[in-house]
Amino acid sequence: MKNLILIIEDNADNYYLMRYLLEHRGYKVLGADSGWMGIELAHFNNPDIILLDIQLPGMDGYEIARQLKSDPKLCVIPIVAVTSYAMAHDREQALAAGANGYIEKPINPDTFVDEIEKYILDFGEAHEDSDSR
Ligand code: MN
Repeated sequence: MKNLILIIEDNADNYYLMRYLLEHRGYKVLGADSGWMGIELAHFNNPDIILLDIQLPGMDGYEIARQLKSDPKLCVIPIVAVTSYAMAHDREQALAAGANGYIEKPINPDTFVDEIEKYILDFGEAHEDSDSR
């Protein structure tokens, strides 16, 4: 069964591109355009991975990552920060806030889904093990 992916992103163009690429490869996608909505959706849908924009209105991506990682239920879900190519600083801070990795904007349609799949394989294992016990 294919994985459920939660995208927290306020830019509609980025969101629809990521969603299109993932659905095209058979993934189910949920979207949130704010941190509070993303955290709610994570609670109720238990996604296999969360793609997290950094620049968001209200709660930014760092704060969202910290909240997700401090929640005993949600902390096992891998987080991939979606950061601007130019912002090396964003990547370091995202990892410090608890993200498991990052992917650079602009999204490269040729490699995007493969990169996400690699993160699911690398970080999704623990999540799966605890479910099947
Ligand atoms: Mn944004």
